[in-house]
Amino acid sequence: MNLTKKIVIALALGSLTGLGLNIFAPDLFPYLNNYLFVPIGKIFVNLITMLVVPIVLFSLILGTAGLGDPKKLGSMGLKTVSYFLVTTGIAIIIAMTLATVISPGTKGEFDTENASFEAGEVPPVSETLLNIIPKNPFVALSEGNMLQIIVMSVLIGFALTALGKKAEGITKLVEQGNEVMMYLVNLVMKLAPYGTFGLIATAVGSQGFSAMKAMGLYMLVVVLGLIVHAVVVYGGSVWLFAKKSPLWFFKGFAPAMSVGFSTSSSNATLPVSMEVAQDNLGVKKNVSSFVQPLGATINMDGTAIMQGVATIFIAQVYGVDLSISAMVIVVLTAVLASVGTAGVPGVGLIMLAMVLTAVDLPVEGIGLILGIDRLLDMARTSINITGDAACAVIISEQEKRQEEKLENKTA
Ligand code: ASP
Repeated sequence: MNLTKKIVIALALGSLTGLGLNIFAPDLFPYLNNYLFVPIGKIFVNLITMLVVPIVLFSLILGTAGLGDPKKLGSMGLKTVSYFLVTTGIAIIIAMTLATVISPGTKGEFDTENASFEAGEVPPVSETLLNIIPKNPFVALSEGNMLQIIVMSVLIGFALTALGKKAEGITKLVEQGNEVMMYLVNLVMKLAPYGTFGLIATAVGSQGFSAMKAMGLYMLVVVLGLIVHAVVVYGGSVWLFAKKSPLWFFKGFAPAMSVGFSTSSSNATLPVSMEVAQDNLGVKKNVSSFVQPLGATINMDGTAIMQGVATIFIAQVYGVDLSISAMVIVVLTAVLASVGTAGVPGVGLIMLAMVLTAVDLPVEGIGLILGIDRLLDMARTSINITGDAACAVIISEQEKRQEEKLENKTA
């Protein structure tokens, strides 16, 4: 049986186990959870997270060194960031349209009296972007600061190209380091079905299902937004710009999507999403190692969809009419908020405070969706990483075609 099937079965079994225990044996769940599900899930997540920083470092140094011409990186960077920003903007518009039409906040009773949410400190997005040059590369590595690691790796890659023979030893070392990491990803992936089982059993088993009833329509709108966005925007753009079938794309990327679903973390899933994009979708290594780590950090369409739906939902519950200009502000701030959202569980909800504040909506409204956000986090993370992969496929296919043209010309 192949890995994808095993992971999908693990997802189903884990959900059923969590749900069964939640309904029929709520007293037993905490024991099984503490001694079985949590440890299995944690072992898997820690193993895979352990590989994130070295993989991004090694593969991006190699990817940049392999490009040869710095201009190529510039044009790839421009294409990547444009794709990320445009698709995130479309995501929010889809989300707000669906939420306005279906209007989940006007159907049902919501307890706004007791809703509360402590908006912790939201890191200013400008600061994240200005701080991309690491003052101390070792701190950047030890903190896992992805944007800083990206900048540092690109610079080292350029230096290796410029030095050529003089730094041959280091290039070889990085190449071999990369091989070692990829080997380990394959090894850790063998545990993915078990890890997935543990993570899903914990997530589903600890849900308060009664809270979900009231929030059912809101959840449905978010999930609908995620599906529409994935099919139309990712499927459509892969078909249009990479000339590949959307079905081939989703089928090939499914193992990474299911790991993203169970870990709720774009960052932790990065080693898997890069490996899957390279192996199953034929994405060129240099493209994958640049586009995907960047995307896992700044491209969060799934998160933007949740934020778009949540903003309209909260406005509806509190009876606030959002003007067209307020809606434009929501689109702009939600793009920024999703750029600033770190690829770890639950941060999207914290960044939502920034969007709500921008249009004077009550931040306590987040309290209403807090209880059910864990499940939506899983779904949106899976979409977040799919957007990065779609961009990588498009850029890689376009590069391949350009190379073919050049070859034909010279032949
Ligand atoms: N968990 C999401 C991710 O890692 C971020 C979020 O929306 O909270 O992509």
